[in-house]
Order: sequence, then C-alpha cells, then structure tokens
Amino acid sequence: MKILLVDDDEGNLDVLEGILSPHGECDRSVDGREAVEFFEAALRRNEPYDLVCLDIMMPEMNGQDALKAIRAMEVELDVPLTVIWMVTALDTSKEQIEAIYKGGCNGYITKPYTKQKIMEYMINHGFIELKPS
Ligand SMILES: [Mg+2]
Repeated sequence: MKILLVDDDEGNLDVLEGILSPHGECDRSVDGREAVEFFEAALRRNEPYDLVCLDIMMPEMNGQDALKAIRAMEVELDVPLTVIWMVTALDTSKEQIEAIYKGGCNGYITKPYTKQKIMEYMINHGFIELKPS
C-alpha cells in the first residue's frame, strides 16, 4: 500500500514511518500545501495513496485545510475517497468536529500515541490482518 505522511516535525515523521513502513511505501511531506501537491501528483500518475496521515498544526497550509483540499479534489476528479487520519496534538472537540464532520477524515489520533494505537487503526481500516494467536 501507498502511504503519505504529513507533519512539519521530522522527528514525528520518523516515528510514524518507523511504525508504518513495514506495511507500505511511505512518502513524507512537511506542510499541507506540499502534501496536497503530492496527493494530486499521485492521482494523476494513477498511483493514488491508500492512506494519508495528516498533522494539523503546520506552516503554509494546516492539516484542516489540506484535508478539505484533498476531499474537494477527490470529488472534482470523481475518484474513491482515500482513508485520511489526522495525527495531531490538538485534542479539542472543536478541532475534532472540524476534521471529522466538516472535513471528512476517517480517523483522529491524538499525540502522544502508541504504536499499538496505530496498529489498531491499521486493522480496523482493513490495511493489515489480525494474526490468529
Ligand atoms: Mg505540527
């Protein structure tokens, strides 16, 4: 699977990539505007991302605006909606309502998170199978 990781903190990107790279090919972006460009370029190449992890507080374009821009693009180009998880330190209900109900994200993970939390999301969204014990 193809994954786009978006965060203005390289350390945060390292952590997420460490967790997710065994499960897919990870691209990294450090701001919302660049992420939207990467997303569009992948769509145009007919190699869309399966999952986008979006930080909210970023320069240039924040994650909320990037989320809306991606959803608008998907509607305009009439392509299936990509799974998008916000991965953010912002845990207010205002931000969550904005992202989930107005933005249309599929998950909202607050920092700090555990590897197990990310794995639960991967299983719940059908990206990896729960191994029988
Ligand atoms: Mg940030």
